[in-house]
Amino acid sequence: MTIAALIVAAGRGLRAGGGLPKQYRTLKGIPVLARAIRALAAHPDIAEITVVLHPDDEARFEAIIAPHVDGIPLATCHGGKERSDSVAAGLESISGQGADHVLIHDAARPLVDLALISRVIDAMRETGAAAPAMPVTDTLWQGTGGTVSGVVPRERLFRAQTPQGFRLDLIRQAHQMLKDAATDDVSAARAAGHEVTIVEGSARNIKITGPDDFALAENLLGKEMDIRTGNGFDVHAFTEGDHVTLCGVRIAHGRALSGHSDADVAMHAVTDALYGALGAGDIGRWFPPTEAQWKGAASDIFLRHAVEMVTERGFAISNIDCTIICETPKIGPHAQAMRANLAQITGIDADRISVKATTSERLGFTGRKEGIAALATATLVKT
Ligand code: MG
Repeated sequence: MTIAALIVAAGRGLRAGGGLPKQYRTLKGIPVLARAIRALAAHPDIAEITVVLHPDDEARFEAIIAPHVDGIPLATCHGGKERSDSVAAGLESISGQGADHVLIHDAARPLVDLALISRVIDAMRETGAAAPAMPVTDTLWQGTGGTVSGVVPRERLFRAQTPQGFRLDLIRQAHQMLKDAATDDVSAARAAGHEVTIVEGSARNIKITGPDDFALAENLLGKEMDIRTGNGFDVHAFTEGDHVTLCGVRIAHGRALSGHSDADVAMHAVTDALYGALGAGDIGRWFPPTEAQWKGAASDIFLRHAVEMVTERGFAISNIDCTIICETPKIGPHAQAMRANLAQITGIDADRISVKATTSERLGFTGRKEGIAALATATLVKT
C-alpha cells in the first residue's frame, strides 16, 4: 500500500477574519496550513503530499507557507470552484505516480494527530474507505420559530472529520461520477455505492472556521512544549587598568577590559543568549553604544532587561552555560561567585547556571593575551 495525502487548501475561508484565507493565518506562530502539512508529513506511512491551492494563492503559499515546511517534499496543484472540484483536480494530479491509496484532509484541521491518521489508514487498508468521526453527545433539538419543536435522536449521529482515506481508484471514480457538488468525499464514495468505515476521531482535531476556533486551537496548542535555545558570543580587548569584571564579579588584574559599558564580556554573552532565544536581537539593539547614558554602565542592567523580556513573553530560563576564553586572569577561583551573581540577577537556582573557562592554547588573540572572549547558551521554556 502506497499512500498519498491530499490537503485541500483552495477555499477562501474569510469568515475567520484577519483579511486572509484562514489557512494562511498563523496559530501560535505557524500558519494553519503549514501545521496541517507538518502533521501529515510526520506520519511514516504517508509517501507524498499534494496541496490543492486556489490559483490566486501561489505567491501567498510561497511567502507564508513554504518557509515553515522547508525540507518536506511537496507538490501543489490548482483547485476548482467547489471543494469537490478541488479534490477531483488533486486526485487527477496524483494519479499515475505510484500511490494506490489517498488520505484527503482539510487544511483547516491543523491539529490532527498521528494516532488518528493511523486509525484511518488501518481501516482503509481493510475496507478501502474510512473516515474519522466523533459521536454527537449534545442533545439535538429541532426548532421552529424560536421554540423547541422536537428532539432528534442522537444515537446514530456523528460529526465528520478528516483525513478521510480511500483506495485511489475508488475515490477517483466516485468523483468522476459525481453529479452535484458533494460536501465531502465520504458522500462522493457513498453516492458511488461504497461503504465507508467510521473510525474514532479526536476532540483535538477541530475544524477552524470562525475567530472562536482560533482561540480554541491556541488553547489546545498551549499544552505543547515550547523550548527555545539561544547563543551569545562577545569579545573585549585588554587596555590599561587594574581589574576586570566578569559575570558581575570584580577580579584584580594587571589589565582592564575596554568597552563602552563596564566591558563585562561574559555577562554580555549570557545576555545575548537570552535575547537570541527570544529572537530579540542583541544588546546593541536595546542599548545602542552610540548613546552616552550606557557609558561605564554596569552590565547587570542589560541582563536584567533581557530577563524581564523573557518573563514578559511567557518563558522561564531553564539553564545558562557560559564559557570564558582567556589565558589570564584565572577564572576557576571566581566561578562560584559568578554563578551566584548570575543566579541572583536571573532569579533561577545556581545549579541551573554554569560558568567555566578555557584557554585557547596560546593561539589567537586570547592566546596572545590581547583580550577575553566569552560564549554562552541559554534555554528557555514556555511557562
Ligand atoms: Mg560586549
